[in-house]
Parts: sequence; structure tokens; C-alpha cells
Amino acid sequence: MDRANIVIIGGGVVGCAVARAVSARWSDVFLLEALPRLGMGASSRNSGVIHAGLYYPRGSLKARHCLRGNPLTYEFCAAHGIAHRRTGKLVVASSPAEASALAALHRNAVANGVEGLRLVDRARIRALEPHAEGFQAIEVPSTGIVSAEELVKAYARIAADQGAHIVTQARVERLEPLRDGIRVVSAAGEIETKCLVNSAGLFADDVAALLGSRMGRHRIYPVRGEYCELVRGKQDWVRGLVYPLPHTDGKSIGVHFTKTVWGSVLIGPTARYIDDKNNYERDRYPIEDFVPEAKLLLPGIETSDLVLAHSGIRAKLTPPGGGIGDFIIERDPDFPRVVQLIGIESPGLTSAPSIAEQVSALAGEILA
Ligand SMILES: Cc1cc2nc3c(=O)[nH]c(=O)nc-3n(C[C@H](O)[C@H](O)[C@H](O)COP(=O)(O)OP(=O)(O)OC[C@H]3O[C@@H](n4cnc5c(N)ncnc54)[C@H](O)[C@@H]3O)c2cc1C
Repeated sequence: MDRANIVIIGGGVVGCAVARAVSARWSDVFLLEALPRLGMGASSRNSGVIHAGLYYPRGSLKARHCLRGNPLTYEFCAAHGIAHRRTGKLVVASSPAEASALAALHRNAVANGVEGLRLVDRARIRALEPHAEGFQAIEVPSTGIVSAEELVKAYARIAADQGAHIVTQARVERLEPLRDGIRVVSAAGEIETKCLVNSAGLFADDVAALLGSRMGRHRIYPVRGEYCELVRGKQDWVRGLVYPLPHTDGKSIGVHFTKTVWGSVLIGPTARYIDDKNNYERDRYPIEDFVPEAKLLLPGIETSDLVLAHSGIRAKLTPPGGGIGDFIIERDPDFPRVVQLIGIESPGLTSAPSIAEQVSALAGEILA
């Protein structure tokens, strides 16, 4: 049986960023991923946006990690040659009726410490995005885009170079608390570890339940987000990132336009609570359903300009109408050798290197 200092469950962007951070400090680090490749969950099924931190309540973990993760992600991408671009973004109020909501979002973003924001008028919107329509907008210079797949691979590659064992096809099936650690039983074998990190994304609640801890009572509500893409001939209609105001119920930040690092333009994601965590494709929205929201921002868009694209599933901790929620990142009160990461939905891609710093500090307490 292998013996580890740290076992990380889940090879998404968060697990891989954690593996990179902790393998810089400790030997005998294992990352166990259920699927044949890393990053096949939410980490490769998102918008690829490096968020600035506008939306999250002041003092929340989402605000803290997004604000710190944003520059860390840019620095990491620049240092390791990962495709990314600081595009900036516009959050657009379509009419005067939305002006007060836009002002409230601006105040929240300023309180969170987001720098360089400007409230701009229709003329500036048009100058930046000639096909977009709006009454007023927040111009956000620190938002950008990244190749999420490359980011995951780079975190994992560095972790492996530092000696971490990255094991795929290793679904964790059982967790047994021991006096000085945890026995981890996976499809790839058994490991005894002094410290365990649960970063199983959408399945983090199920993994927490394997331990029988009180944290297993946290429930993840899967919320599917679906995307369309602009057809090739219309890709130059969007230069950067164009967002509406976020949903008032906290369900999502709204169907937006994202110019990807490959030059394609995503439209989405929608937000719909679903029952099955593996249901990416059943009952997809038809293309026509994207058009009304898309037209609010780009009035010239027609159904024939869109093709269906991928979908992803958010690991939400709140039921319908339950608000924006926060990340849970803490040592398990019942099993203090375990660090639980539950509800790591957006902005998890942006936040990953900052979350990894916090996990590394918690692992330091455990291994001291
Ligand atoms: C539609 C959508 C759009 C988004 N857009 C953005 C964005 O633009 N910017 C941003 O910052 N964030 C965005 N996010 C959020 C971001 O994608 C996630 O927060 C992030 O990818 C979460 O990473 P993770 O590693 O926690 O989870 P995941 O990527 O889901 O990884 C968890 C891994 O754990 C594995 N696993 C599960 N159970 C087990 C087990 N028992 N044993 C072993 N392995 C297991 C899974 O196979 C999976 O690979 C978006 C999310 C969605 C769904």
C-alpha cells in the first residue's frame, strides 16, 4: 500500500492547482482522477473567462479568491506560454430601467477592490463593440480569456515535475478514517494519507458523504449551462466580452458573448437546475431559445447566425431562488485531516491558484 502526505481527489483545475502548490512543499503527493483524462468536468466546459470579481458579495470567499486569482492566473499564463488574452469586458444595461442595477453592480465591484472600472455611455459601447447595443455599461479592463484545457494541463505538468503522482482512472470509492490519517480506496488501489483534499467538483458532496462527516449534508444542486456559437462568418461581430446584467436570483451572471482564444464566439451559458449530474445533452434548448437574450445585446443576431456548442454543469450549493452562495473551503470539523472544497462553481477557474494557496496553508496546519 502507498503512503502519502497528501491525497487530492479530483483532477479538475482546482485539484491540479492544489497539486502544483502542495507538491512545491511536500513529497508523496497523489492526485486521483476518476476519468481517463484531467479536466474533463466543469474545468473544460466553461466560458474560459478570467473574471475580475464584480459580482460576489464583499468579504465572500468568491470575492477574495477571484480578486487574487485574477492576477495570479495572468502571471501563470504569461510565465508558461498558455493561450490567454486580457480582452476587457462590458456589462451592459440595455435600457434606462436597468441603470440603477448597473450602478449597484458597479458599487459592489468597487467595494470588492476591482480596479480600473468605468461607467460608459452608448458611444463608448459602440466604439468598443460596433455591433452591440446598450444604454450604459461598466467597462472592466481586468477581465480576460484563457484556454482552460491548457491551464489544467500546465498546473498538472508542473505538479508532476515537482514529484506529484497524477493518477487517472482512479475513482475514489471508499474513505476510511484511521487514527492518524485516512485510507483512500480507489479504482487504482489503496493509499494511506496524512491529509486528504476533496476537490471532486460536482461530486464533492458525494465524496464528503463517503466519510460520513457532517459536511456530507451539504448538497450540490447541478445547474446546466448550455452554449451556442456564432457561425464563422459572424465571428468578427464581437471583439471581446459582452455581458448583460446578472440574474437577480443569483442563478447565473447571464447569457453573454465570449470571444475565445481561438477566435470563436460563445453565447451562453443558460442556467437550468437538473436532476442528473451526468446529463450534459438530454433535452438541450433549441437554438431559437438563445435568440431573444442574444438580441438584447446584439440586435442584428438571427437564428441562422448560431450553431449549438458544448454545455457544462455548475456545482451550485443553493437551490432555486437560493441566492449566489459561496465556496466552502475548510478543514472538516469531524475529520480535521480532510480539507473540503464544496460548491466551487464560477469563478472557480479564475480562483484556482488562490484557492490552492489557502489549501496549502490548511495542509501546513495538518502536516505540522
Ligand atoms: C457553464 C460554466 C461556465 C463557467 N464559466 C467560468 C468562467 O468563465 N470563469 C471561471 O472562473 N469559472 C467558470 N466556471 C466555473 C469553473 O469552471 C469551475 O469552478 C471549475 O472548473 C471547478 O473546478 P474543479 O476542479 O473544482 O471541478 P471539476 O473540473 O469538475 O473537477 C472535478 C474532478 O473530480 C473528479 N471526480 C469526481 N468524483 C471523483 C471521485 N470519486 N474520485 C476521483 N475523482 C473524482 C471529476 O471527474 C472531475 O474531473 C464555469 C462553470 C460552468 C459549469
